[in-house]
Parts: sequence; structure tokens; C-alpha cells
Amino acid sequence: MTWKGSEPGLDELGAPEARARRDLMVIGTIILLGCVVVLLDPDRVFEWIASHEEASIEEFLTAAVIIGTGFALFSWRRWTDLSRQIAEYKRLQTELSAINQDAAIMGETDDLLQSSLSTAEVYKVVIRHFEIQFPSMSGAIFAFSQSQDTAELAARWGSPSVIQDQFHIKDCWALRRSRMNISLASDPRLACPHIGTPIPLYAICVPLLAQGETLGMLYLDTGEESIPSKVRPLTEPQQRRIKTLAEHLALAVANLNLRETLRTQSIRDPLTGLFNRRYMEDSLEREFRRAVRKGSPLTVLMVDLDHFKKFNDTYGHEAGDAVLREVAKVFQAQLRAEDIASRYGGEEFTLILPDTELDAAIQCAERLKTASRAIQIPHYGQTLDGIRLSIGVACYPLHASTAESLVRSADAALYRAKELGRDRFVVAGTM
Ligand code: GH3
Ligand code: MG
Ligand code: MG
Repeated sequence: MTWKGSEPGLDELGAPEARARRDLMVIGTIILLGCVVVLLDPDRVFEWIASHEEASIEEFLTAAVIIGTGFALFSWRRWTDLSRQIAEYKRLQTELSAINQDAAIMGETDDLLQSSLSTAEVYKVVIRHFEIQFPSMSGAIFAFSQSQDTAELAARWGSPSVIQDQFHIKDCWALRRSRMNISLASDPRLACPHIGTPIPLYAICVPLLAQGETLGMLYLDTGEESIPSKVRPLTEPQQRRIKTLAEHLALAVANLNLRETLRTQSIRDPLTGLFNRRYMEDSLEREFRRAVRKGSPLTVLMVDLDHFKKFNDTYGHEAGDAVLREVAKVFQAQLRAEDIASRYGGEEFTLILPDTELDAAIQCAERLKTASRAIQIPHYGQTLDGIRLSIGVACYPLHASTAESLVRSADAALYRAKELGRDRFVVAGTM
């Protein structure tokens, strides 16, 4: 459903020219006819002139009035045409400067969108844009949830008519059809079901599409305004502007998602989701410097799965992968948000615990061992369990004075734990 906006009247601009041409043709034809009459029968013309040699003043006046009226008519028509043309040019000029102003605002918004570092920033830019460009409208931005079939409220401004913060994709015509949809209070049967009641006088849903993916939905409505005469349907250029902004918004979100994916790929181990070794090494340097500066302790745990090769050989590589994933989950569940759990390589892990004394580190190692023992993984009708860990514990400043020697000490302690029969932890310096 669309409204036709007032487009520049290009036909109207051409009309005065056509009229002027027509008038000139009439004058030209009259003159031509006069010439033809003179050429066809010059004697009669000379006779007529001779008979009017002594024309009366009335005859001159009559001729002057006829010619004067003709010219006055012609001039009046030119003047009205010109006035209309000037008015039309002024209208076009106003429209053009409005378009230029819109383009400048859109350019600025686009620039801000492309420079945004988070979706929260992107939403702020969009809200600012709508508050300036469509001050009488309320709105909301919905983002798709992980499951891809529900849209969740991500941002809102004004008082949009939104039933719930979340709705199913099938409850929005725009999302179902992947194109803009307008709902009207005057036609409630076709209004999107996700819109609250009373249905706003005018509501518009625009799907956020980028790189072949639907990322969410942009929603705008007339808010709590309930007087129909106060609500003006959006013109086609306004609808186009909203659509363009939705495209830019979707692109900005898609770029941020892509950036986040690349960042995750560069710092995370794909199998376990833990940090990778490179990230761990960078973090260790940083955490070590912080610990030295603050005079706080820092612990490193080196963890290795016992007899993992046998596990792999008995149940297969796939089962081994499942074990690694479950052990990683144990680490994530047992450690604090500020701890850094990483996969050092193979079935070996490095855990960095900032601000952690030896006693707390020992308790942590115990907890990890107990939680790993409890792991049970269903595997083709069998249950995989019996996961055992060997752990080496080293603390700064107790066992090492550099980041490198801290890892080395934890590694030596791990080696010792293996030597002593596995399924245990050993503290550096007690070997
Ligand atoms: P230990 O108790 O001495 O540590 O014995 P282990 O068998 O755990 O150690 P070993 O170094 O002999 O074998 C490690 C095994 O880990 C060998 C390798 O196949 C397996 N492994 C390494 N990375 C992966 C992986 O990504 N997935 C699976 N399934 N297995 C892996
Ligand atoms: Mg091992
Ligand atoms: Mg190993």
C-alpha cells in the first residue's frame, strides 16, 4: 500500500512554452493570410487602401483597439504563464534544497553508522536521525534472536505501539514478505499482529536486509496520536528515505557482525570456544604487567587430560572432540569472568587466574578435577566418563618472576603430576 507524493510538475513546466508557441502561430497565420490576400489580388487591396485614404478617426480608433486588445491578450497570457513558471521554479528550488539537506543529513548519519563500534552505537545514530527527520513519529528496532525465527526489541524511541518485546517472524507482514509494509488503523484486519492495540493511525515496518540475510526490522508509527486529521501519511520520497536508512542500518549491523566473527575467529579456538594460544600469550603479558604494577598475585594452571590418546583410540576422534568440548565447558563454568581459559594445544589447556593466591588456586584446581570427573557424555548408546586431569600450579610472585618463567614453572609442575601417577595437581616448588 503506497501513497503518491507530489512529484515535480514537469508537464506543467512545458505547458506555457506550448501556449506561447500556439499564440505565435496564430499571429503568424494571420500575417501570412494577409500576405496571401495581398499577393493574390493586389489591385483590390490598393483599391481598398485608396478608398480609405481619408479614414475617419473612428476607423483608426477601432483598428487601434482591435490591435491593442490582441496585444494585451497576448501579453496577459505571457505574464500569467511566466508567473506560473516562476512559482514552479521556486517550488522546485525549495524541493531541491530539501533534497540536498536530506542528502547531507543522510550522509552524516551514514558516516556515523559506518564508524560505530557496536550495535548499541548504531541504534543511537538511527534514533537521532529519526528524531530529527520524523519528529512526530515513534519507533523501534528489532533484532533477530539466535534461533532466527523471533525478533527481539533492541531499541525504541517515543511511544511505539509494541505489544511485546519479542514476536515471531510470522507476526510481521514485512518480515514474511521481505519488503516494507504499512498498517493502518482504518484497515485493522491487515495490520501486523505484533502491533499493539489500539492500532496506531499509521505504522510502517521495514525489514533489515543485508548480504542476503534478514537481520531485524525497523518499525515506525504515529505513536499515541489519535486525531486522524493530525496524521499525514508519509509521501513516497519520505518512504524512500526510510527504506534507504533501513538499508544503511542493516549494512552497518552486518559489518559489525562480520567484524565480531572475524575477531572471534582470530582469538578463539574453534573446537572448544576457549581462547587460543596466541591470545593467551598476549593476555599473560598484560596480566603479568598489571600484577607487578598492582603488587597482586597471578596464578597459572597448566592442565592436561590423562590418557587421552587411549580415549581417542577406544571411542574415536569424534568422541575425543566431544570430551574436549565438555572439559572446556567445565572450565567456563568454574572460572570467573576475568579468568582466561585457553587451549594451549591438543588436550592441554592454560588457565590464567588474575588476583589469585596459591590457596585459592589450589581450591580451583580441586574444583576442576571434581567437575571433570562428573562429566558424562552420551555416545552411540554408551556413556563416556572417567575423565581425569593432571594440573600444574604456579603463582607469581611465589614461584616465578617473569611471565615466561611462570608458565614454565606450571608446565614443570604438570610434568611432575604426570610422573607421580596423573589425576592430581602439583604446586610448583614442592616437587
Ligand atoms: P598423558 O596422560 O601422558 O597426557 O597421555 P595422553 O594420551 O593424554 O597424551 P599423548 O600426548 O600421548 O596424546 C595426546 C592425544 O591427544 C593425541 C592426539 O590424538 C589427541 N588430540 C590432540 N588434539 C586433539 C583434538 O583436537 N581432538 C581429538 N579428538 N584428539 C586430539
Ligand atoms: Mg594428556
Ligand atoms: Mg598432552
